[in-house]
Amino acid sequence: MGGQRIVVVGASLAGFRAAEELRTAGHDGPITVVGDEPHAPYERPPLSKQVLAGTQPPAATAIHPATGSIDDLALDFRLGASATGLDLAARTVLLGGGDRLPYDGLVIATGASARRLPGTDHLAGVHTLRTLDDCLALRAELEGAPRRVAVVGAGFIGAEVAATCRGMGLDVSLIEALPVPLERGLGPQMGAVMADLHRDHGVDVRLGVGVVRIDGEERAERVRLTDGTVLDVDVVVVGIGVTPNTDWLEGSGLTLDNGVVCDETCLAAPGVVAAGDVARWPNATFDEVMRVEHWDNAIAMGAHAARTLLAGPEGAEAFAPVPWFWSDQYDRKVQLAGRAGADDDVEVVSGSVEERRFVAFYGRSGRVVGVLGMNQPAKVARWRSLVEQRTAWDDALAIAGAAA
Ligand SMILES: Cc1cc2nc3c(=O)[nH]c(=O)nc-3n(C[C@H](O)[C@H](O)[C@H](O)COP(=O)(O)OP(=O)(O)OC[C@H]3O[C@@H](n4cnc5c(N)ncnc54)[C@H](O)[C@@H]3O)c2cc1C
Repeated sequence: MGGQRIVVVGASLAGFRAAEELRTAGHDGPITVVGDEPHAPYERPPLSKQVLAGTQPPAATAIHPATGSIDDLALDFRLGASATGLDLAARTVLLGGGDRLPYDGLVIATGASARRLPGTDHLAGVHTLRTLDDCLALRAELEGAPRRVAVVGAGFIGAEVAATCRGMGLDVSLIEALPVPLERGLGPQMGAVMADLHRDHGVDVRLGVGVVRIDGEERAERVRLTDGTVLDVDVVVVGIGVTPNTDWLEGSGLTLDNGVVCDETCLAAPGVVAAGDVARWPNATFDEVMRVEHWDNAIAMGAHAARTLLAGPEGAEAFAPVPWFWSDQYDRKVQLAGRAGADDDVEVVSGSVEERRFVAFYGRSGRVVGVLGMNQPAKVARWRSLVEQRTAWDDALAIAGAAA
């Protein structure tokens, strides 16, 4: 695609890494990066950790290229600009102000947006956490020493916000409709371990209950739960998952189904690739069509999608990684390489759950599919290869046993 025009929609992690890879691979044509946030690309993980806690300034989240400066990449950034439509036949992206951006190759990297709790938009004090601006607004409220913070939803964002708030000395209730925190990410057994971790740190953990409504005149004052409990609160943080940002692609002809549906090479249509939180694709390593909301995947998939665009349909390779994420909660680093499902076999192969320092394997259909570590980064890194190699469950347990 030498000399041809590439448009990247989404000026965040996947979009930026795609643009960087295009340059690294030698693409010398114009690259336009469109982003609806006003900020240059930045990292989101510190928004629920260091930046929220006030131990890192917002500027520290800036994303930098692996070598050189961002200017060296010669990207034409259109920040504060929304893509509102895609004309596949004319190979043109439509922008909010009426501008049209013709392209020869398109990277879709519009990520996802935090889901909101219905009926709360008019209430001050109710927050979601996806963007830097969300983080700064929440941080400002936490600095006001609220009496109690209610975190609704104990997925990774909710659990990290609860941990950060406890680190600031605030009273926290963590409310989850499922029986354990992080059930979708870690399954019921390890979710229960995470519930205990939060209880150890003084969080009021409320499981198996939903929110009926949030009461208040102008700002949130009380959270009413399905078990009849009423919690007095000053701040509510809603962490109930995300929705992939595909509205602007409705009617474009792309297949949209919980994300932009791609083939195994990240190709969504001729000359169009997708990457990061917005993309769904068949990952051959797991025989599964997946959409992955992890930092590592946004980087790897952004770069892979860029290579697919440059290679064309004949030369493109399958994207079949072992997904990997980490989460920092209190003084624990939780890492998962691979997948973890509710019905998987789970076996602790090193350390102990009681010490909150262990490795557990997840097994499915006779092979190891996930390696979870709590404060065991070296072992997660070592045993990740067992998932990559689709190692049989018994063999994986034997390998871990021999290393113990
Ligand atoms: C608070 C927080 C903490 C996290 N912590 C961790 C962690 O500890 N470990 C981990 O593995 N992962 C973590 N993640 C997940 C990780 O940050 C995401 O997986 C990653 O940001 C995804 O990158 P992306 O580029 O695909 O999407 P996004 O980062 O969502 O970026 C998409 C960009 O596109 C823009 N956009 C959307 N629609 C349009 C449009 N129509 N026109 C123009 N622009 C548009 C969006 O505004 C956004 O700027 C965290 C995420 C959050 C929010």
